[in-house]
Amino acid sequence: MSTTVLVINCGSSSIKYALVSERREDRIFGLAENLGSVEARIKGITVGGEPLELSIPHADHEKALETILSRLSQYNPQAIGHRVVHGGSLTKAERLTPEIIQRIREATPLAPLHNPAHLVGIEATMRLFPELPQVAVFDTAFHQTMPAHAYRYAVPKFLYTDHNVRRYGFHGTSHAYVSERGSELAGSLKQGGWLTAHLGNGSSTCAIWNGESVDTSMGLTPLEGLVMGTRSGDVDPSLHTFLASNLGWDIYKIDKMLNSQSGLLGLSGLSNDMRTLIEASEQGNEDATLAIEVFCYRLAKSLAALSCGLPRLDGLFFTGGIGENSAYIREKTLSYLPHFGFNFSKEKNDSLKRGTEGRIDNGTGPQIWVVPTDEEGRIAKETSAVVESELGATPAKKSELETAIA
Ligand code: ADP
Repeated sequence: MSTTVLVINCGSSSIKYALVSERREDRIFGLAENLGSVEARIKGITVGGEPLELSIPHADHEKALETILSRLSQYNPQAIGHRVVHGGSLTKAERLTPEIIQRIREATPLAPLHNPAHLVGIEATMRLFPELPQVAVFDTAFHQTMPAHAYRYAVPKFLYTDHNVRRYGFHGTSHAYVSERGSELAGSLKQGGWLTAHLGNGSSTCAIWNGESVDTSMGLTPLEGLVMGTRSGDVDPSLHTFLASNLGWDIYKIDKMLNSQSGLLGLSGLSNDMRTLIEASEQGNEDATLAIEVFCYRLAKSLAALSCGLPRLDGLFFTGGIGENSAYIREKTLSYLPHFGFNFSKEKNDSLKRGTEGRIDNGTGPQIWVVPTDEEGRIAKETSAVVESELGATPAKKSELETAIA
């Protein structure tokens, strides 16, 4: 990748950014947080790993982006890559044009918390830096290769045809990066059948065959599937009727409970943070112990279910804050999958250092790897591919055409 790309991930009150160039060690990154409040600030890492903390009281998205970009302009970014959670039916990274922006806007009902924030960031950077090429990279795009039998819900057809109700899947940049890097480490780049488990505050699994997503645990929204920090994952859909009829809850209260008060936090009544729960469990907290057990069991169940999408299982990749750092959660999850034929190495699992890639099986049977994710790197790579293909395509295509005519 020869293009230096500024990667922007705009949330409702925060902006994550990273300046991604050839070498990962040179990366500059940070987070603008508490936007719109007196506490607004930028925290990050600058050149040579130096920490940065900058107060920007009352700054909004545009002001924060202006500050970030003015600090980074000396490094001459050649393109901006935006993370966009929901791309609707868009299947790949796209150069931002009025039409693509409109399609992101149209996908808002499917990601009401995320897409409006992305649009604020996109509009601000387009206004501030009209000369820089800008690209949207979608969390959903990698999963657009899923077959219909994996993405359709068993509900009346018109909900799909007229209202786009289907499974989309998320964390696509992470599953794409980790499966590509992991299969490369395993010596079979983009070949064979792999499962990925991205385990962070949001968690999802994915089944990948020959480099393409064939199924994933998240659905129409990022609520479906695994137990997460504050999200319930799968529940009986009749829970909604039960709560409405018996407790008088409206749909918004139920949605809030399932998204923000459930998962590890709901089960434990203590925290959404896995590290905190592991510590509490070690000190005898039974709710924390149960929350961890449900998390691991449901994760194993999801991996087993997704394996149905693969003609053959070559192995499993763990990633995300929990997947990369917790040997305990990896071991507990694998203990529910004895029928997968893994030859798990407790010694390798326990000795793997934080943030490093490594294999944690004994070398026979399906492989198990820990692969730290790099969503910013993947977004930068896809952005630079779009920009470089546009720059290169016109003259190259023309000369091919000219050659053909000659
Ligand atoms: P996000 O989804 O917000 O990017 P991360 O991928 O950083 O989040 O993952 C955050 C989760 O990783 C938290 O639950 C945190 O407790 C967990 N985590 C980080 N380090 C460890 C560790 N050493 N052991 C267990 N859990 C960990």
